[in-house]
Amino acid sequence: MSPVLYIVIPCYNEKEVLPITSGMFLEKLKSLIEKNKISDKSRILFVNDGSRDNTWEIISSLSNENEYFKGISLSRNRGHQNALLAGLMEAKKYADITISIDCDGQDDINAMDEMVEEYLGGAEVVYGVRKDRSTDSFFKRATAQGFYRLLNSMGAETVYNHADYRLLSAKVLNAFADFKEVNLFLRGLIPLVGFKSASVYYERHVRIAGESHYPLKKMLALAFDGITSLSVKPIRIITAFGTIVALLSFIGIIWSVITAIIGKAIVGWASTVSILCFLSGVQLISLGVIGEYIGKIYLETKQRPRYIISERTYEE
Ligand code: UDP
Ligand code: MG
Repeated sequence: MSPVLYIVIPCYNEKEVLPITSGMFLEKLKSLIEKNKISDKSRILFVNDGSRDNTWEIISSLSNENEYFKGISLSRNRGHQNALLAGLMEAKKYADITISIDCDGQDDINAMDEMVEEYLGGAEVVYGVRKDRSTDSFFKRATAQGFYRLLNSMGAETVYNHADYRLLSAKVLNAFADFKEVNLFLRGLIPLVGFKSASVYYERHVRIAGESHYPLKKMLALAFDGITSLSVKPIRIITAFGTIVALLSFIGIIWSVITAIIGKAIVGWASTVSILCFLSGVQLISLGVIGEYIGKIYLETKQRPRYIISERTYEE
């Protein structure tokens, strides 16, 4: 029996691309069904992440016209990661495997064949990895590269050049359902779930239409969330830095006492002020990092729902 595949696609204000890419996804799904790689019960599941434009209307009419399209709508915008989670948890009810992909056509849909092939060969997780970033602007390339380096050096292990284009089996999704964190960083969490994994390499295209929702500011926020939700290394670095500064100042104290005793103490205003300013800066940054973790603990303890589904294009 061939597996039921659900392609899960989060959409936020995508009225420009959706009419174009929905057809591409459908063609891919149908070709996989024809080749008997996946079951005829396979579907494309759109998640409307509280779009402000008519994305949901587009999804609804797609699902009216064609039974292969399904859609759920979140009660408000919850961000890419939560929207994806909502889609995966919904798909889990019906599917043997899911493939998550962005709706902007940037990720090559032809990699799906290979992903399904890897699954049939025994992999439970298949990462879609970008071959190169030649289609990106220099700025996007540099920031994205820095993003992965920073994440890995800070102890948040991720697969290099892999975003959220991946195949997950129902087995993995069932295990993942127990990860209850509100601070969601899927590409860092999936490796923690384990299971046999494989990678599939593909070329990434430019966005077909519309604009990226990940400007530098959101990218930095994602990196920061990724690091602080997966690792305590930044706090350790602060501790280590504090220890070094304390040791150095101890040497400074001895030195100042000696100069005072031998009567060579000069009123060094400038040096005092600069050391003071520098150290207060360091202290504020350190407090900020620790505060970030406390904020995360606060959010986790509330255990609020990560998303609320307000509408479905089908009966549950
Ligand atoms: N997205 C979402 N909620 C958001 C922002 C984005 O569901 O709040 C979706 C968006 O529709 C797209 C995917 O997440 O399918 C990736 O976003 P985008 O293409 O803007 O990011 P980029 O590829 O530039 O990193
Ligand atoms: Mg994109």
